[in-house]
Amino acid sequence: MKKVFCIGEALIDFVAEKQGSDLSKAVQFTKKAGGAPANVACAISKLGGKGIFVGCVGNDPFGKFLLDVLKHEGVDISLVQLSRTFTTLAFVSLAEDGERDFVFSRGADKELEYDHDLRKTLKGNILHLGAATALLGGSLEKAYGKYLFDGLTKEMFISFDPNYREDLWKDEQEVFIKKCMPFIEKSHLCKFSKEEAQLLSGKSDIHEACDVLHEVGTQIITVTLGSEGTLLSAQGMKKIIPSIEVRPVDTTGAGDAFIGCLLNQISNLGNFDPVSEDFALLEKMVAKANKAGAITTTNFGAIVALPTKDQLEA
Ligand code: ATP
Repeated sequence: MKKVFCIGEALIDFVAEKQGSDLSKAVQFTKKAGGAPANVACAISKLGGKGIFVGCVGNDPFGKFLLDVLKHEGVDISLVQLSRTFTTLAFVSLAEDGERDFVFSRGADKELEYDHDLRKTLKGNILHLGAATALLGGSLEKAYGKYLFDGLTKEMFISFDPNYREDLWKDEQEVFIKKCMPFIEKSHLCKFSKEEAQLLSGKSDIHEACDVLHEVGTQIITVTLGSEGTLLSAQGMKKIIPSIEVRPVDTTGAGDAFIGCLLNQISNLGNFDPVSEDFALLEKMVAKANKAGAITTTNFGAIVALPTKDQLEA
């Protein structure tokens, strides 16, 4: 079984209790562990894989809370860095018009320093670059570039999820697109939402979007489509793989469950060649990952709702 290094942010989401009020009026908040790469590491560990989280949190009670959650889920946290800067926080509420009201207080996550020792252990393993905050700057962004390079020289399987957040890139979409390109070029697998595929390719048709993004470089593309399943595009073939029918209560973390489950399956295969892998096998793997995403929507919260191996197989 290969190790899956998930690099990027762990943060606290403070979610306003009362929907329908904007943040200026919100009074009570629920504290939740979050951050896409941290969620993906949990998804892998809950499925019995080797999820390793590499990120920076504050040496404060919120950082301790995040590490306790990750440890509880079986994630390897030995490479986590601690900072004197406060743990990154996000405050979220649903305003009356249905729009998300969002305040982001970026702290320790940006301070992740490139780890020379980690480089030695990368060979033959899986690198997942999926931070929503990585391209916003800081030493985390520099580390991302270096790990991408290491992934290439150390014969790793590289996975990229741009995790676009409109709130963070409001008037700077072009900058975001430009910064994503080297990652799309060099990664073996890219996971996009429909909106991300459209934004990054400039095409509204998702099939055409995949063609454009393959031309940039990546070999396997999955475009997650919520209840409709996932468009798989690889080896010149495209197919929408349907999801299972569920009654969703909270879709947070479905995308992380999906990519976590897919990477866990790849980690269990002895040899996995993104260029020549059998399309039928990829279909089966995506169908299983769809199931993991679907199950996650049936429970509240991201990490708590991620399925275990038994739940996925039930
Ligand atoms: P995120 O917002 O977490 O980044 P995302 O937009 O990438 O996520 P989704 O498309 O919402 O992810 O979900 C990922 C996968 O989970 C989908 O491709 C699908 O297979 C499954 N899924 C999500 N929502 C549902 C649903 N309502 N019914 C069935 N399956 C679902």
